[in-house]
Amino acid sequence: MTEFLTRAASAGGGSGPAGRAAIGLVFVGPPGAGKGTLAKTLQARAGMRHISPGDLLRQAVRDHTEYGRKALTYMRAGDLVPDEIVDAMIQAALAQAEGGSGWVLDGYPRTPAQAGLLDGFLASRGGTLNAVVYFEIGEDILLRRLTGRRLCPICGAIYHVDYRPPRSAGRCDLDGAELVARRDDAPDTALHRFRVYRAQTAPLIDHYRRRGLLLSVNAERPAEELYDMIWGSVRSRPATPLP
Ligand SMILES: [Zn+2]
Repeated sequence: MTEFLTRAASAGGGSGPAGRAAIGLVFVGPPGAGKGTLAKTLQARAGMRHISPGDLLRQAVRDHTEYGRKALTYMRAGDLVPDEIVDAMIQAALAQAEGGSGWVLDGYPRTPAQAGLLDGFLASRGGTLNAVVYFEIGEDILLRRLTGRRLCPICGAIYHVDYRPPRSAGRCDLDGAELVARRDDAPDTALHRFRVYRAQTAPLIDHYRRRGLLLSVNAERPAEELYDMIWGSVRSRPATPLP
């Protein structure tokens, strides 16, 4: 991590092209709420960098980086990748995004501790967090989205039989492995997981609500509508100073 910070220290401050301030967004919401789709739209249209822990990990594994090799040992054992690795990768990606139009953190932070780490990192580098978008979604809609998910047991890539099918049915695009439905995505388990997620995320939501950064959106609305709403809101919102 130190290496990344030192190397990126010369990359400049947090202002974008033509001196316009870069926009920093955090997306919070359960898997299946559509965060990734919207983050990709912001990347394509507004030039904001989409930063997702899952994508960073998969990229690191594909590129055989040091983090990738470390992460893979946990993934192969079926364990969660430790926070320290994820934190370091996120910070490196944020440092790389400096000087651009901004960034969207999709699925990070997950805990108040990580939120504090992010605050400290941004403060030390003149970066700004403009808003935390909370994707609210009903249980029934979320279940419909989740039960079609398929996972690659080798690299962790996630597909959906309707929304994101692999090029070849039932096979991972990246390594050809046979896709599986996660036990977690069975309706009962998914519902339980969603409730656990909501309970675990509540302190994070409170943290950002107290800071006046929370922007709640109805994730069941069409993506186009959500885009207009989020983009309209952050463009008119002044940057909130970090504590
Ligand atoms: Zn794969």
